[in-house]
Amino acid sequence: MTSPQRAPGGFPVVGIIGGGQLARMCQPPAVGLGVTLSVLAEAPDASAALVVPSSPVGEHTDADAVRTFARDCDVVTFDHEHVPASVLSALEADGAILHPSPASLVFAQDKLAMRRRLTALDIACPRWAQVRDAGELKAFGDRVGWPVVVKTPRGGYDGKGVRAVGSPQEASDWFDLVVRDSRDGGLLSDGLLAEERVPFVRELAVLVARSPSGQAAAWPVVETVQTDGVCTEVLAPAPDLDGELSAAATRAALRIAGELGVTGVMAVEMFEVADEKTSQPSYAVNELALRPHNSGHWTIDGAVTSQFEQHLRAVLDLPLGATTTRDRWTVMANVLGGDYDELYPAYRHVMARDPGVKVHLYGKGVRPGRKIGHVTVSGSDLADLRERARHAADCIAGVITE
Ligand code: ADP
Repeated sequence: MTSPQRAPGGFPVVGIIGGGQLARMCQPPAVGLGVTLSVLAEAPDASAALVVPSSPVGEHTDADAVRTFARDCDVVTFDHEHVPASVLSALEADGAILHPSPASLVFAQDKLAMRRRLTALDIACPRWAQVRDAGELKAFGDRVGWPVVVKTPRGGYDGKGVRAVGSPQEASDWFDLVVRDSRDGGLLSDGLLAEERVPFVRELAVLVARSPSGQAAAWPVVETVQTDGVCTEVLAPAPDLDGELSAAATRAALRIAGELGVTGVMAVEMFEVADEKTSQPSYAVNELALRPHNSGHWTIDGAVTSQFEQHLRAVLDLPLGATTTRDRWTVMANVLGGDYDELYPAYRHVMARDPGVKVHLYGKGVRPGRKIGHVTVSGSDLADLRERARHAADCIAGVITE
């Protein structure tokens, strides 16, 4: 591996493990700040490797590759949460500075650990249980009501980690894997996470940043819209959000960041729940992401400080930037891959039709349903912004052709 070229003037090198679009979107603010990025990329044509000059190729599971990579970096952070604990420990033993730390990262890697910790902190969550077999799941479902949501606690399991089930039989294939992994020490050796199915009104996300010195900042609470389980749209700020709920959700996210010792950006995904008796809406935390997150892509164009710049500032323990919005509303729409892989030809139409649309593509190959980019548009008429964002995203993906 060749060492990254450090800028003169005492500027640090920030290493990112993983070469996905989050690492890629850190590059523009790194350029602005004069900070050098170095990315440990899965492949020479990984999304970030296409734009970051120092992008050695290596697997995040390969301890030797990761340790060699980290030696040239002043601080190391992550594009995803899949770096194994053994590799993180080896990095810590080498004296690498990791943000977030492995001790806090575990709450994004393991949903059971996250539920246990948030419950101990008295943060509102769906009712949940750790279940190792069909009998335990049946007891839980009979207590909270069917259907229930069953999750594989550790990510990266075939990409299919969440399932609503009406009976224990519908999770029997997962319980077979629990038996196997308990024997072999695999990903499901702790069993599964079962949760009550929350009858939510909508999904919200609170994005915060926290620095090692303990400074913290939050952006306005946003609404995330999912289609077939994939985030397709983010509305910033969340329209018609109750003021008390907004304040309580933000306080909870900042408290989680402090209690868990989070450093860098964290997204707290939440459900908004209506209470028919009191008519005061409330929240329940769904999950945590300890990195820049899709729910914060709107901040690139819609906030004074983007989540990517803020993440760099936070992991470098620099003072954080303002999180105020630039406009009344910002709408972000994801560009999801379709059957059509010629994306560039649509630019002429999209840009001519709407000069206000900002386009961000990730340099990724097209696969159906894959997040390959996003667009944002800001202004004062929310319905108009949503229509314009969706139109631009669909044109680029080739879903519509006029
Ligand atoms: P992932 O780690 O794949 O993002 P999540 O835990 O965020 O999985 O779940 C994905 C989606 O499934 C959520 O955005 C939500 O729409 C739905 N979901 C997850 N947990 C629950 C629950 N307890 N009740 C109702 N819906 C849920």
